[in-house]
Amino acid sequence: MFENLSERLGSVFDRLTKQGALTPDDVRAALREVRVALLEADVSLPVARDFIKAVEEKATGQAVTKSVTPGQQVVKIVHDALVDVLKGEGEPEALKIDNPPSALLMVGLQGSGKTTTTAKLAKRLKDRNGKRVLMASLDTNRPAAMEQLQILGLQIGVDTLPIVKGETALQIAKRAKQQATLGGYDVYMLDTAGRLHIDEVLMDEVQAVRDAVAPRETLLVVDGLTGQDAVNVATEFDGKVGITGVVLTRMDGDGRGGAALSMRAVTGKPIRFVGLGEKMDALETFEAERVAGRILGMGDIVALVEKAQETLELEQAERMAKRFAKGLFNMNDLKGQLDQMLKMGGMQGLMGMMPGMGKMQKAAEAAGFDDRMLRRQIALINSMTKKERANPDLMQASRKRRVAAGAGLDVAELNKLLKMHRQMADMMKKMGKGGAMKQALKQMM
Ligand code: GDP
Repeated sequence: MFENLSERLGSVFDRLTKQGALTPDDVRAALREVRVALLEADVSLPVARDFIKAVEEKATGQAVTKSVTPGQQVVKIVHDALVDVLKGEGEPEALKIDNPPSALLMVGLQGSGKTTTTAKLAKRLKDRNGKRVLMASLDTNRPAAMEQLQILGLQIGVDTLPIVKGETALQIAKRAKQQATLGGYDVYMLDTAGRLHIDEVLMDEVQAVRDAVAPRETLLVVDGLTGQDAVNVATEFDGKVGITGVVLTRMDGDGRGGAALSMRAVTGKPIRFVGLGEKMDALETFEAERVAGRILGMGDIVALVEKAQETLELEQAERMAKRFAKGLFNMNDLKGQLDQMLKMGGMQGLMGMMPGMGKMQKAAEAAGFDDRMLRRQIALINSMTKKERANPDLMQASRKRRVAAGAGLDVAELNKLLKMHRQMADMMKKMGKGGAMKQALKQMM
């Protein structure tokens, strides 16, 4: 499902993730494409617009600047925004069918998959919830539809109300209610008649049935492939008969997945289930996280990205720990640490995370150690030659003057940096011997 939408989004994000650093322009250009992809997938304009705005706000905030690979971060932000839109106000609660016999009204246009879905859901309620279910078709215009439900009932082992010729939909509904009460059923499902288009007669009939049985749930079945139309149908049905939820069918097809995105935002009604095929067990509960993953066409990319990131950082930390344990801690290593500190929210946050660093933290605070200082120190290191960085002991007076001038700073500042480097190198060496270094590095990564 969602092939079209996910393919488009997938290629947008591919381009993003392949780039190293990400500029706000990159993000904006990508989001323009996301917007086009959404509209082409038949997501309604206001929904697409709100969505892009939400992503843009998050993407231009600190989340991206702090992330190691901004492209992946954007994917995650888009994913989370999708989940938000799909979820609406919280997850849909379970079907209210705990008051036997509970009436469950199934409504929708002809051909939407209503009868199939009625049977699928009946099977699910029987198999998973242990409910005794009775199904009845109210489609008096189409005897074939009544027979279809009967056949499906036999197939899945769910009772159907015996067909009595000449009854009106309302009469059938009342008989179903009576039968459900007498027969000790937990749930009775009414498969109402469909029409090709919404019309007054149909709505009147559904209203009369609704008033007679007071359904606990009224589920609208819509064809997920029809995109924006599905949303319009839902809006109309909700206005006329009041629905408590939506079932999107044919989500196994590769059509426009936009209906799922717009549905919740436009109608305010939760998607309860999605139909994923013609078979009787091809019905899933709607889960925003899973659907968002499918829309992005990346399955569990978000989890994968997080995992990959972790592994990478662990490997890095272990490599560094090995170096430090051998007493190898040069200016490049220090620069790596300083960069990392900046990324981790500065000196204070970092020190707090490292065991045995309490003393140094106090000293750092006393020395007015802050992010500006981190940046100055990085500038000093950048101003050193390759050789000097690899071997800070080379730093004699003339070199010091050159390096400090190159960074636009005083030699005193450089001396502070060199002193700090020596202290850190000593400490790293000590910690490395006990294996504490590895621990500390893992924590700060
Ligand atoms: P109704 O007129 O609304 O009752 O529609 P039906 O239940 O008779 O379904 C019409 C056709 O759609 C049937 O061939 C079903 O097998 C098929 N159908 C229903 N739901 C799905 C679905 O989720 N996926 C696919 N691929 N086909 C479905």
